[in-house]
Amino acid sequence: MKETFDVAIIGAGPAGISAACTLADAGIKTIVIERGEYPGAKNVSGGVLYGHNLAEILPDYTERKCPIERNIVEMRIWYLSKEAGYSIGYRDSIFTGDRKYNAFTVGRAKFDRWFAEQAHKKGALVVPSTTVADLLRDGNGTVTGVVTSRVDGEVRARVTLLANGINSPLAAVTGYRAEPKPEQIALAVKETIELPAEVIEQRFGVSAGNGVTTEILGEMTGGMSGVAVIYTNRDTLSLSIGANLAELAKNKLKPYDMIESFKQHPMVAPLIADGQPREYIAHWLAEGGYDAMPKLYGDGYLIAGDSAMLFNALHREGNNLAMASGKMAAETIIEALNKNDCSRRGLSAYGERMAESFVIKDMKKYRRFGSFLYQHNELYTQLPRLASFAAREMLTVNGVSKKQKQKLIMKEIRSKTSLFKLLRLLWRGWRSVK
Ligand SMILES: Cc1cc2nc3c(=O)[nH]c(=O)nc-3n(C[C@H](O)[C@H](O)[C@H](O)COP(=O)(O)OP(=O)(O)OC[C@H]3O[C@@H](n4cnc5c(N)ncnc54)[C@H](O)[C@@H]3O)c2cc1C
Repeated sequence: MKETFDVAIIGAGPAGISAACTLADAGIKTIVIERGEYPGAKNVSGGVLYGHNLAEILPDYTERKCPIERNIVEMRIWYLSKEAGYSIGYRDSIFTGDRKYNAFTVGRAKFDRWFAEQAHKKGALVVPSTTVADLLRDGNGTVTGVVTSRVDGEVRARVTLLANGINSPLAAVTGYRAEPKPEQIALAVKETIELPAEVIEQRFGVSAGNGVTTEILGEMTGGMSGVAVIYTNRDTLSLSIGANLAELAKNKLKPYDMIESFKQHPMVAPLIADGQPREYIAHWLAEGGYDAMPKLYGDGYLIAGDSAMLFNALHREGNNLAMASGKMAAETIIEALNKNDCSRRGLSAYGERMAESFVIKDMKKYRRFGSFLYQHNELYTQLPRLASFAAREMLTVNGVSKKQKQKLIMKEIRSKTSLFKLLRLLWRGWRSVK
């Protein structure tokens, strides 16, 4: 590949393709280099995407036949002990009306492929089965392109966008980002379970085309900070469970074992009964938050998406941060190319755009949330057990007065913790998201 491009993008995930579409729309000569056999082949996500961010790249995404699995009309939250659990949910008819496709599920293998095709139709060159092994630099250290795994595989470009996700050896080779510490990473496994569409609709109480997301916290992560999710797709369910990498290593636990026991939980088992496992995959999640973010740009390069550690753990949002950052990176590149200044200074508007957008504002707002979860393992042990004990007592009709039950519950709480500790936990939790 001896050709020179205006922009080389590493990675055909949501960040890279959002940038490619924006650049191609402006007539910029762009190459996207993807290590997977095809875009999406290497990608994992529980699968919720957000219409607002996609529409900012492709306003006509439904006419372009975006492979939507289900429109999300209800969001549920569960808090589980080993054998019981609480469930709250929010369903709103606005999500089938004015705000249809506020959130929807996709299969990343299908979606990423489709998204890359749209970039290709707009004029970007998407090259799969090619891994970027290093960055090219001139004598001043300015990035001038990439070195790929192909023979004669150097690609020269005026600007390079690193959109290569969280799990990429490129960071270690080039040093553009510090290797994330194990406590800044979650290891998640995802299993896709096949079920007829009507069975999914009946079990989740939705009509054809609509779906539900369930975000789950509690004992199923074996006392480690982590979450599980269940997302409805057209004729599959995505189950995923993940926990902090440092804790997994310390406890010598495997996420594969966690997902097996999660599937047997009494609130999960009926939802997946008679389903056929179709796909099983493991992936890192960037959970370091704002404090783990690298410098977003330098001489000749910018960083977007997971590669820049953009992930909102509380809201499970990563795809939208990736798309928004990819778009802002592309807008900055267009200006820089027009001014013929792709130096750190010329690309600095990216930092300003990001700082003014929801991306950095949200990352800052939740910067303490990850460490709050990591430091309070009672959220995954003692508290779900106590919460279940309280509900079980109150809901069991056995001739004991409610006053007596209340005393029993308070006694149990005092034997395991204190009111002061609970209030302190609430206060710290609130402070971590305020
Ligand atoms: C289990 C799980 C569930 C999730 N659920 C959700 C969810 O429901 N909603 C949500 O918004 N977010 C979710 N996320 C997060 C979301 O998947 C990411 O935030 C998002 O994929 C980031 O997009 P990206 O383009 O930055 O990176 P990626 O999607 O990781 O794409 C990076 C691309 O770069 C390629 N690549 C890497 N290195 C190289 C290289 N050296 N050379 C060439 N190509 C390379 C990869 O193959 C990949 O295609 C989830 C993540 C996981 C792990």
